[in-house]
Amino acid sequence: AQRSSFVVVANRLPVDEVTLPNGERQWRPSPGGLVTALHPVLVEHRGTWIGWAGGDGTAPEPFDLEGIHIHPVPLSADELERYYEGQSNATIWPLYHDAVETPVYKRRWRDSYRAVNHRFAEAAADVAAEGATVWVQDYQLQLVPAMLREMRPDLKIGFFLHIPFPPIELFMQMPFRAEILRGLLGADLVGFQQRLAAQNFVRLARHLLGLRYVGQSIQVDGRQVKAGAFPISIDTKDMERLAADPAVQARAKQIRAELGDPKTVILGVDRLDYTKGIELRLKAFRELLADGKLNVGDAVMVQVATPSRERVEHYQTLRVKVEREVGRINGEFGKVGTPAVHYLHQSVDKQELAAMYAAADVMMVTPLRDGMNLVAKEYIACRGDTGGALILSEFAGAATELRQSFLCNPHDPDGVKEALMRAINAEAPELKRRMRVMQRHLRTHDVARWAHTFLDELGSDDTEN
Ligand code: UDP
Repeated sequence: AQRSSFVVVANRLPVDEVTLPNGERQWRPSPGGLVTALHPVLVEHRGTWIGWAGGDGTAPEPFDLEGIHIHPVPLSADELERYYEGQSNATIWPLYHDAVETPVYKRRWRDSYRAVNHRFAEAAADVAAEGATVWVQDYQLQLVPAMLREMRPDLKIGFFLHIPFPPIELFMQMPFRAEILRGLLGADLVGFQQRLAAQNFVRLARHLLGLRYVGQSIQVDGRQVKAGAFPISIDTKDMERLAADPAVQARAKQIRAELGDPKTVILGVDRLDYTKGIELRLKAFRELLADGKLNVGDAVMVQVATPSRERVEHYQTLRVKVEREVGRINGEFGKVGTPAVHYLHQSVDKQELAAMYAAADVMMVTPLRDGMNLVAKEYIACRGDTGGALILSEFAGAATELRQSFLCNPHDPDGVKEALMRAINAEAPELKRRMRVMQRHLRTHDVARWAHTFLDELGSDDTEN
């Protein structure tokens, strides 16, 4: 088997299997920020990416795709239900997002999570060369660092959590909390989106395991485990280029025309997830229509809600609630041919998304809690010098960086309504000025910088050669 000096371990592989017109099956890279950022490092070091390829049952044999060695890990239907939908998405996901939905704890989910994490760790131990750097990604794989260290003490292990890390009081709910914490402490560097999350982590290590820390560095069995904030970002240049494409600009014009050329297009783009605050955003819009502050025809809302985790119960009830609210608004305020809300329960590709961002006067990003929120950053990158307003929840990781947005507390409906009206009534020069500041920030703080900063801090010799 091929041995690599740089290994990425993530739940999902950055590939999709497609069926060609002649019926042949073929692997194709699936676009995404993470793979874009890591691609150069992977290619340079004959790197391997370990992950699940989709489907259940057996996994395909390892293969090479565009310079990356792809190493699939199998998941059974049972594991998908317990490790992925259960422990990852019905226990850890809600708990780490402030328990905005009640986390569900089940022992058989936890056992499956353990077993799958062990399989991923074994795969990494197999493919990693002596002294290699292994970078483990996200909440589905928190036990991997410790398991891998046990198998391969020679490795340099990094871990990055893409979602929030909760305060001690919340984390302490988790039945196998000490095991999760020890799992993470198997890494040399544990990265978070925000400084507060890193602080939660080091304090938790003291609280739960009595470990000493100095600054952001925890002492574990004579080793140092560093914690730190590494806010993830987008491929800014690529997004700017896409938005400037004449085809995308033409499509943006067309979208506005199809919406009836209203004064104000308000846009929301989210996975249909209860952390995203889709309902409260719709409610704020409804109340502004009812108050007479906004009129149908002048203002129109477009909400893209991408299907997500549809077999998890929380997500099924959310869909019903959101669709009821959309129906209520259109029923009350719509006219024939002029709905108040255009609702798309669909996945939209990057090109169409860029056109939507370019077409939107106001972008509403109102999560109750979000690790980062890349949609907010993408909107800014797509605006060029056309202004536009970003309404952003204080509870999104992105709020730390995007200070020139219209910040709001999503738990306060009046605050959200007020932010929306301020955004709608702001003068063009002010909006452009705000946009420029945030665009400058994103040009220097892109996803490539995120990856390099993390790997530099991990001190992986690999990336310095
Ligand atoms: N996205 C997409 N099509 C859609 C909806 C979203 O390609 O229909 C992309 C979007 O451009 C962004 C990502 O999905 O890059 C969502 O990332 P974000 O951090 O905003 O939220 P997450 O879904 O990871 O919680």
